[in-house]
Amino acid sequence: MTVRVRIAPSPTGNLHIGTARTAVFNWLYARHHNGTFILRVEDTDLERSRPEYTDNILTGLAWLGLQWDEGPAFQSQRTELYQQAIQTLLDNGQAYYCYCTPAELDAMRQAQKASGQAPRYDNRHRNLTLAEQAAFVAAGRQPVIRFKIADDQEIRWTDLVRGEVSWQGRDLGGDMVIARAAPAGEIGPPLYNLVVVVDDIDMGITQVIRGEDHIGNTPKQILLYEALQATVPQFAHTPLILNQSGQKLSKRDGVTSISDFQAMGYVAPALVNYMTLLGWSPVEGMAEIFTLEEAAKYFSFERVNRAGAKFDWDKLNWLNSQY
Ligand code: GLU
Repeated sequence: MTVRVRIAPSPTGNLHIGTARTAVFNWLYARHHNGTFILRVEDTDLERSRPEYTDNILTGLAWLGLQWDEGPAFQSQRTELYQQAIQTLLDNGQAYYCYCTPAELDAMRQAQKASGQAPRYDNRHRNLTLAEQAAFVAAGRQPVIRFKIADDQEIRWTDLVRGEVSWQGRDLGGDMVIARAAPAGEIGPPLYNLVVVVDDIDMGITQVIRGEDHIGNTPKQILLYEALQATVPQFAHTPLILNQSGQKLSKRDGVTSISDFQAMGYVAPALVNYMTLLGWSPVEGMAEIFTLEEAAKYFSFERVNRAGAKFDWDKLNWLNSQY
């Protein structure tokens, strides 16, 4: 099967080194397999998305030499596709309207916590009668749409980095919201898990390669693939980039965006070389200084570490001095 992978940045900030490193791994995997690397801009969060961040991300990827073969596609222009999928799930009885108010949900979670349970949606509106629904509509409540998640289900996959992974349905927080509140009968703005799955199906993605912080979303997404009767892709969850205290590298750590590194005088070949080494071990006999094309020849997930990768300025500075 032809490899089709993607990078799916959210334009809510400048191109972050974590996103850029995920792009590097996707690019290397695509090139190694003569596949296609797709760019998709996840701009469904309209309040936080900004065109200047989209520009920064596209410019940054191109500057690093991570040229994409298809795209950019913009999620904000694909609403109809998501609505169709949600409608299918509603028609098949795999999704339903939930009329709970934020205050009710809050009270539910407080009560769960007070009795020592982990807070979760208790699926209370899963089987409302038509009369009950009509009463909520008459009271002016605007429902969200939830996707049913069976508690007694086990979800498994063989992760290209982490090996066998398994989750229990009951640990996924109850039936999941896939569309935000909207007037009864309408489909509100779709949410991340639904949108990603619909796009990955539509774009024929064969391997989803992304940061380990998404691992808890994967079981939910696998259930959506199954409900939409689509082939489940392979997944690779790559180790996070960590700061000196072992936490995920974030804006608070100072310089984290590619344009900052660029402004400080780091050159693109050194940066992509460094990012590749953050989590991937070169094959035996390979020097530590290499181009993306060289790394692509040997790239595989077998040599990607499971443990987080500590950001190392000395190493980056040394590499930068070699170019
Ligand atoms: N927009 C998501 C992010 O930037 C993409 C996650 C994914 O690859 O599915 O984290």
